[in-house]
Amino acid sequence: MLARPGLPDFEYMKAESAQDVFHLLKEKGNEVKLLLGGTDLFVQMRDRNESAGILLDLKYLPGMKDISYDKKTGINIGAAVTLNQISAHPDVKKHFQILSQAANTVGNYQLRNRATLGGNICNASPSADMAPAALVLEGEVSLSGPDGERMLALDQFWVGPGKTALKECEFLTAVHFPNPPSGAVGRYLKLGRSKMGDLAIVGVAVLGYPDPEVPAGIRFRIGINSTAPTAYRVPQVEELLAQAPLNDELLRQASEEAMKISAPIEDVRATALYQKKMVNNLTFKGLKEVWSQLINS
Ligand SMILES: Cc1cc2nc3c(=O)[nH]c(=O)nc-3n(C[C@H](O)[C@H](O)[C@H](O)COP(=O)(O)OP(=O)(O)OC[C@H]3O[C@@H](n4cnc5c(N)ncnc54)[C@H](O)[C@@H]3O)c2cc1C
Repeated sequence: MLARPGLPDFEYMKAESAQDVFHLLKEKGNEVKLLLGGTDLFVQMRDRNESAGILLDLKYLPGMKDISYDKKTGINIGAAVTLNQISAHPDVKKHFQILSQAANTVGNYQLRNRATLGGNICNASPSADMAPAALVLEGEVSLSGPDGERMLALDQFWVGPGKTALKECEFLTAVHFPNPPSGAVGRYLKLGRSKMGDLAIVGVAVLGYPDPEVPAGIRFRIGINSTAPTAYRVPQVEELLAQAPLNDELLRQASEEAMKISAPIEDVRATALYQKKMVNNLTFKGLKEVWSQLINS
């Protein structure tokens, strides 16, 4: 096999203000690539899927590495917060446990020291591990552009593999997660080819919480990755689970519905049929674990 050619030459610049970013993006357009940890970007540049004359490092902009929790409004996580910081942060562990679980499944410890939440989200990979957990927590991205800041729900941010709703000259500054409903319990289950750190063949996040208003007494949110052009929720399945008393049969029926909705493509990691069956298995396992935790708590 031929040796890979290595990284192409590029210029490195450190952004000191949001104005720097808008200005450079306006002036140089596609020649500029935004950099956080670089664990996706450098691989794409090495493989010549991305080219960049200038790498503009956003890590040192004010607020990009901050985590702030408010018991009324939820948590704000700066785009440059690393996945190890997320998995270890006391407020994340206490109130947004499923984020911490998801962060811990990404690659390996060394990678997670560099890899950031913002990078995972902006890379818009269908298999991004933070995506299903972020969807069930109903996260919103905070985007900064020349016309100001705007918030956008994550399910509208991903528009296809590697594609986001970022407008020209915009960049991600933070991700906001509202407090989950009272008593919520979450579980992220990931299947990869190896436990030593691999992209997801399938990942399923399940969040459940008591809701006396529905016949089931519990509501579930389900987020799935790797089996469609973007990570997604399955509202039809969530509704099915809410509208009847819970039992194993209903959980199985719901998991099969999730499997039917999934639309994986054959790739190097697994066949489409295997991925579909694993959506069924992981959804059932996740629902069962969350349900038993809720009824035993
Ligand atoms: C060995 C290895 C194993 C991996 N394993 C996993 C895994 O198990 N699960 C998983 O989900 N991922 C995995 N990844 C992918 C990667 O590590 C993660 O997606 C990581 O979170 C990316 O974060 P980063 O800070 O390194 O992003 P970067 O590489 O810096 O950026 C990613 C993309 O986002 C853009 N970008 C960066 N910041 C912004 C911004 N503020 N606004 C707009 N666009 C921006 C960049 O231009 C680039 O296109 C792996 C990668 C490697 C190399």
